[in-house]
Amino acid sequence: MLSSESAFRVLARARALEAQGRDVVHLEIGDPDFATSEHVVEAACRALRDGATHYAPPPGIPALREALAQHIGERRGIAVSPEQVVVTPGAKPALFFALLALAEPGVEVLYPDPGFPIYRSVIGFCGAEPVPYPLREELGFSFRLEDVRARITPRTRAIILNSPHNPTGGVIPAANLAALAELCVERDIVAISDEIYEFMDYRGTFASIAAMPGMSPAERTVIVHGFSKTYAMTGWRLGYAVMPTPLAEAMALLMVNSNSCTATATQMAGLAALQGPWEPVQAMLDAFAARRKVLVEGLNSVPGVHCALPGGAFYAFPNVRGTGLSSAELETYLLEEAGVATLTGTGFGEQGEGYLRLSYANSVERLQEALRRMQAACAALLG
Ligand code: PLP
Repeated sequence: MLSSESAFRVLARARALEAQGRDVVHLEIGDPDFATSEHVVEAACRALRDGATHYAPPPGIPALREALAQHIGERRGIAVSPEQVVVTPGAKPALFFALLALAEPGVEVLYPDPGFPIYRSVIGFCGAEPVPYPLREELGFSFRLEDVRARITPRTRAIILNSPHNPTGGVIPAANLAALAELCVERDIVAISDEIYEFMDYRGTFASIAAMPGMSPAERTVIVHGFSKTYAMTGWRLGYAVMPTPLAEAMALLMVNSNSCTATATQMAGLAALQGPWEPVQAMLDAFAARRKVLVEGLNSVPGVHCALPGGAFYAFPNVRGTGLSSAELETYLLEEAGVATLTGTGFGEQGEGYLRLSYANSVERLQEALRRMQAACAALLG
């Protein structure tokens, strides 16, 4: 059975409170609060005026597949051909289709806990067994290889990785990925690597398992990626996957049977985003880096809360055990009593107990307001 995302549940409750006249600071939703760059919007408008109002080929327009193959290949130092790229309406369909192609009854798929809730939901929907592996706060929310190794069985077909990571902001160190790569090759396991936060990597330590020996997308990695976060294009619906050619052909068939194609003008906009200029993206990334500092410093002065500086994405995942409430209780308390919308860590898996997820896709002023409210609310809790 499919399950939902707690971000949409909390957003609905926050909107209901606002409708009653309450002021709520939104730290629940993972949607960059920046407008898509003007040149990208313009490219889509121009494309529409020039007649890009028809179907495109199901796996994507050739110019975009070529540009993506080059973009992904260059950054990782690997060879990628356009035939390995399939363009989809968002990263979510790319993930859904990859799992439809790989996960089936009798198969096990490993996924990170805490992790993006859609992983578990879709693995189970495909009839495969979802097997969580823990991410550990003391490792900057990376994994211990032994934890993964202990969960591998002859039925393990794939492992999902996500770095930089939602919900923790963790970035998996290259050495960890290299060790995991050896294990995947040895045990014949496919890596599904969700790299949607690749550019939200504030220490410059991003590494892809697809660059490790034996793990290229021609061999055994499916890179899931998209434009939503990097280019502030969540509402456009544009994502893609890079994978072995036979799997790309299967994914193209799934596109024929579901969407026919990703919106043609949206793909033209994506091409413009890739071509640049890069400055608007850099300005957004710089703003996120500054907010990260404000939020994490502030969280460390909230009674009962501590938070290490996350390496990437636009989330903080503070440890809130010292407040004496469960994560779900604290989420409710902060929203109802203090007007701060956060997400319980348990919305991301059992290992999320003791944590909250805060998105810093909001202005420094609003983050400071949220911190003031949290400081007062948690001080009141601890009496
Ligand atoms: N993967 C992760 C880890 C995400 O956090 C998200 C969005 O929140 C997605 C995938 C989906 O992105 P898209 O908007 O491209 O479907």
